[in-house]
Amino acid sequence: TLEARAVSAWFGSHQVLERVSLTMPAGQVTALIGPSGCGKSTFLRTLNRMHELIPSAALAGEVLFEGEDIYAPQRRLTDARRRIGMVFQKPNPFPAMSIYDNVVAGLRLTGTRVSRREKDELVEESLTRAGLWKEVRDRLRQPGGALSGGQQQRLCIARALAVRPRVLLMDEPCSALDPTSTRRVEETIHELAGQVTVVIVTHNMQQAARVSQQCAFFLAEQGTPGGIVEHGPTEHIFGTPEDQRTADYVAGRF
Ligand code: ATP
Ligand code: MG
Repeated sequence: TLEARAVSAWFGSHQVLERVSLTMPAGQVTALIGPSGCGKSTFLRTLNRMHELIPSAALAGEVLFEGEDIYAPQRRLTDARRRIGMVFQKPNPFPAMSIYDNVVAGLRLTGTRVSRREKDELVEESLTRAGLWKEVRDRLRQPGGALSGGQQQRLCIARALAVRPRVLLMDEPCSALDPTSTRRVEETIHELAGQVTVVIVTHNMQQAARVSQQCAFFLAEQGTPGGIVEHGPTEHIFGTPEDQRTADYVAGRF
């Protein structure tokens, strides 16, 4: 279980999140929805300390992974990254690197050591989980950049899965993909269910309804930082929301 407690975030003096608290239960898929600019990506980045890469970013609050504060001073950054993987909107494989090396690249970045044989197994396992193995098994030495956009995104998912993360954060992973690739990615998310905790940002309400069990609606009203208006089981958010703003948003009225 991943738990954000009163997370606030700033870029310089501009506050973009105000005391956001959300529990993302283990093994479930949580969807973050809301209009552009309300802080969904910022919130997602606080969950694996990715926002620390942005020099002007500051944070308050706590993020607990299985009860432990990932920001505690004695915790190493690579610890958080190894357990909590991330996939971005734009597929970003290393284009000149082989498909095989792309999958194992994450191991080096997080300081995970494995033998050659384990690597071969991990590559097959990760590509299979990402729904890409059958398409690339005979071309693992070809560059990642030679794949189609949808295949590149699944390669990025395989790269994230290779370190066997407990949590996978996905920031609009399908917005650059065609319907077939989108379906493949959604199948992958379904297959991860129960094993990996998934947090996905999406602008596609049908997708949120298809893949998630929990849903949080973010909003930043004029001149105020972003926060969660309402969260709960996906069927409640879509079927019987309590807040009129949630009802309007999921019905596509703004
Ligand atoms: P979208 O749906 O368009 O992706 P979002 O909900 O993901 O939007 P964020 O990207 O988290 O929104 O942005 C929230 C606010 O923080 C916005 O006002 C944005 O301009 C600001 N912001 C985001 N990244 C930075 C940055 N690196 N430096 C300064 N301000 C930023
Ligand atoms: Mg975003």
